[in-house]
Amino acid sequence: MELGPAGQRFPARLGHGYARTESPARTWRMEHGRLRGDWNFAVLSVVLDRFDRVNEMLGLSGGDRLLMETAQRLQAMLPEPSVAARLNGAEFLVCLETTRNEAEATKFAMEATEAFREPFIWRGQRLTPQLAIGIATADAAYGHPEDLMSDAESALAHARKSEPPGVVCYSQGMREEAHEKMQMEADLERAIRTGELVMYYQPEVDLRNNRIIGFEALVRWKHAQKGLLPPSAFIPLAEETGLILPLGDWGLNEACRQLVTWRNGSRAELRGTRMSVNLSARQFEQPNLVERVRQVLAETGLGPGALRLEVTESSLIADAGAAVKTMRSLGDLGVGLHMDDFGVGYSSLHYLQRFPFDTLKIDKSFVQGVVNDRESHQIVRSILDLARSFGMDVVAEGIEDADQLRELQSLGCPCGQGYYFARPMDPRAIDAMMQTGSMGGSELAIAAQGKDLKSK
Ligand code: C2E
Ligand code: MG
Ligand code: MG
Repeated sequence: MELGPAGQRFPARLGHGYARTESPARTWRMEHGRLRGDWNFAVLSVVLDRFDRVNEMLGLSGGDRLLMETAQRLQAMLPEPSVAARLNGAEFLVCLETTRNEAEATKFAMEATEAFREPFIWRGQRLTPQLAIGIATADAAYGHPEDLMSDAESALAHARKSEPPGVVCYSQGMREEAHEKMQMEADLERAIRTGELVMYYQPEVDLRNNRIIGFEALVRWKHAQKGLLPPSAFIPLAEETGLILPLGDWGLNEACRQLVTWRNGSRAELRGTRMSVNLSARQFEQPNLVERVRQVLAETGLGPGALRLEVTESSLIADAGAAVKTMRSLGDLGVGLHMDDFGVGYSSLHYLQRFPFDTLKIDKSFVQGVVNDRESHQIVRSILDLARSFGMDVVAEGIEDADQLRELQSLGCPCGQGYYFARPMDPRAIDAMMQTGSMGGSELAIAAQGKDLKSK
């Protein structure tokens, strides 16, 4: 960020971008603060939310025009001698002068977001841009301009999380949160290397005869201090940091290896079973995914037909053409493909037609409403009809009680999984459950009384 001497406005090179290079001018405002005790300024990190969508809708020249207009709108609002600069992409940095406190900076930011509600018109198309703004107000405790900018960016990350995006001021808790996140990242990296991650398995059941047809592998983290952590506590971080790639690679290998152990073991009923493994969008986009799957199958000795890969809609959005290609190659290999959490998000008929899935997994939110909620019931029925007409299989997720099971059976749903049959369990608990010959048999599992689980 370039900050000029008092009263001097830096040239309005908005839209061209200032590099974050060291320059004497950059630290000038901080020195000025220190020498004169004048900390009446704030740094605002401003971003045009979902700018990639704007580029998709309006094309690159429309996107460029919007950036220029954003710069002009921002500049027109700035009180002298404040300055603004475009940092990169759709991100701008503002040094707001003559603000005495957080409330004043927030007032400016709110006015800016309000001003952006004015629609932007490009070749006859109207679009209402949305700003997210993070604010850090200066004080004597800041040693470097980078710290102030970094705090404004932490606040921006929070501002972007809300829907619609808003204005957020930096607070001490955010630094602690960022620190905790860094610590967690280091811990997770170690956990992957040292075997603190474990795979749990949840049986998938044929609802027509209550027999186990396979398992879904669901990762857990045996954290030394925090105990057993569910995926929601670390998968988002793994995705953000890229650790999902080594994690996913380990998970795929582990799940295939476990199924081979079960299939080759003494229990005949597990011989024909299959394994479903979740893939995150980042794994799915890996150019060497198909090769890696081929390798894991070869290394573990699992036949491709016994492996199912589960992907959600988010894997298909970024590059649909590439996703179709990957899916075809996996299909050619003989591996099955499940569309996970079907029905939530934007999943449409178009998806079913375009992407070669074998199986739809009905999201548990619909399964849990199948008995008492008319809309959920209707959605489950429609998904089953759709699957039939597209020649796909269906697995209902999250079956929790006998009423839900009965309803799904009466609708003709072929397969399901859920706490009613068994919770996800470690391999030893699965072995113990198989010994008893009925679902249950571990303290975690809810027994499905009187079910015939033997054989397939
Ligand atoms: P998912 O693939 O949709 O998995 C189903 C989730 O529903 C699992 O949560 C499972 O424990 C839970 N579930 C199963 N039956 C019931 C039920 O009857 N009631 C309720 N309320 N929940 C039930 P979990 O294990 O916490 O996993 C959450 C998500 O984390 C998974 O959703 C999947 O998206 C992701 N995940 C889990 N393991 C992996 C992994 O190895 N790799 C990747 N990339 N993602 C994973
Ligand atoms: Mg899944
Ligand atoms: Mg799911």
